[in-house]
Amino acid sequence: KNIVVAIDGYSSCGKSTLAKALAKKLHFIYIDSGAMYRAVTLYFLRNDIDLKDESQITTALQAIHLNFHSRDYETHIMLNDEEVSDEIRQMHVADKVSAVAAIHAVRVEMVKQQQRMAKSKNIVMDGRDIGTVVFPDAQLKLFMTADPLVRAQRRFKELTAKNPGLSLEDVFDNLAHRDYQDTTRAESPLTRAHDAIILDNTDLTPEEQLTFAVKRLEP
Ligand code: C5P
Repeated sequence: KNIVVAIDGYSSCGKSTLAKALAKKLHFIYIDSGAMYRAVTLYFLRNDIDLKDESQITTALQAIHLNFHSRDYETHIMLNDEEVSDEIRQMHVADKVSAVAAIHAVRVEMVKQQQRMAKSKNIVMDGRDIGTVVFPDAQLKLFMTADPLVRAQRRFKELTAKNPGLSLEDVFDNLAHRDYQDTTRAESPLTRAHDAIILDNTDLTPEEQLTFAVKRLEP
């Protein structure tokens, strides 16, 4: 049977860093589920989709084709054959993604596609509902947390080169806002699966986190 590792947690907790490292070490496929919600958000923004209009949303979802290209263990996501990996990280997408991710029809479609990707493949997937909704039977579930200020500082460092004028406060506020929306939404709110192991990485190096995860996977 194929193996699934589910990594969930708040925004900018280092989920993708750990997920990538783990996938690389184990030769598993890495899937960034957040990139899918971000790509859908980008499409909605570009096409001026009204988030309250169900028929517009249904039509838009049918027109969206998402694909991952795994050249390496980085996320290369294609939105209708256009690589949007950089654009989906920008703040105009980050500001809207949690509202888009709260829409029922969007979640149904993303979950369906995510489950299909794991058919007969070993994967590491990170997100918000992977251990609770997408793969409730995952062999390993991690729930990551870290100090909010440390998280904002890490994300700020990543974003600042490509986003001149961005302040640490902007990043901190965006994370706090997304965490609030993600944990309070009606559908699949972010919560720890009862069998997920908590990993607080505030004071852990990437290597220490990898060792922690690999140990939990050993029989
Ligand atoms: O992981 P990332 O921060 O890129 O995710 C962006 C947003 O997508 C999250 O803030 C959340 O609103 C949404 N998301 C989700 N479920 C997932 C992954 C991401 O709702 N499995």
